[in-house]
Amino acid sequence: MGFVANALIRLAEERDGDTLEKALGHPQARFYLSGEGRFLARGTEEAPEPAFTLEEARSFGVDEAEATLLGWAPGSGEPRFAAALPQGVEAEEGSLLDLRTLGMRGVLAPDIEGQLAQALHFLNWHHRTRFCGVCGGRTATELAGYRRQCLECGTHHFPRTDPVVIMLVRDAKGRGLLGRQRHFAPGMWSCLAGFVEPGETLEDAVRRETREESGIAVGVVSYVASQPWPFPGSLMIGCIGEALTTDIFVQDTELEDCRWFEPDELRAMLSRDHADGLFMPPDYAIANTLIRHASGA
Ligand SMILES: [Zn+2]
Repeated sequence: MGFVANALIRLAEERDGDTLEKALGHPQARFYLSGEGRFLARGTEEAPEPAFTLEEARSFGVDEAEATLLGWAPGSGEPRFAAALPQGVEAEEGSLLDLRTLGMRGVLAPDIEGQLAQALHFLNWHHRTRFCGVCGGRTATELAGYRRQCLECGTHHFPRTDPVVIMLVRDAKGRGLLGRQRHFAPGMWSCLAGFVEPGETLEDAVRRETREESGIAVGVVSYVASQPWPFPGSLMIGCIGEALTTDIFVQDTELEDCRWFEPDELRAMLSRDHADGLFMPPDYAIANTLIRHASGA
């Protein structure tokens, strides 16, 4: 799975007003720099290098006072930062690369991929929290990027993570329920998914989303794994749901189609040798992990 191997030591509780400056003074401080949701990288397409020094970040016009300290590398203690490139800066020093594309191609070391996911999540949150939701005043970054405070009314704003349930629903025969969204590549099918609503348990979110999208009733729900998904700031919570009914009614306009797949069909789709050319998302996506888990592949 992608984005899950981030071992940075974050020390959120130990941060204070001096943390950012101290970490910026470390000779091995490294920056991940983002412009319009993509990361600046040097190197080749097969081996992109997205880490830059403080001097390099400054030379691109980055304001280090606005940087987020993601954490310290285990062992070496080298600090890693995320920062936004100023608008309009041309990427003369490298290419701007999309994190989803990098994940799909599997060209980054797993820990770097996870750190970039954390970086993108923070940068998206900072960008969307420049003004206070209480009074409309400007906010400023604090605790080396781990909090913002309103300059007018003093309200603290903390980074938010939006939970999304993603589920493989299966019936008593071991068949799996998959759907096709309109924007999917031809032949691709995946697990059903949706945002958890306020005041809802994860189990009920799995049952509600499945009923809304397919008409299938779900009983027992069990948790399998989770995956950070910083587009813009989600956590995918992977579950298995046991179906109580089998008749499908596609009611969701998001879904183009929804149907049951036999266990051998699921395995063929995972190994990309399905007779009709049908396939699943690649193994960097949690949908692949869930289907693999549930089908015993
Ligand atoms: Zn305010």
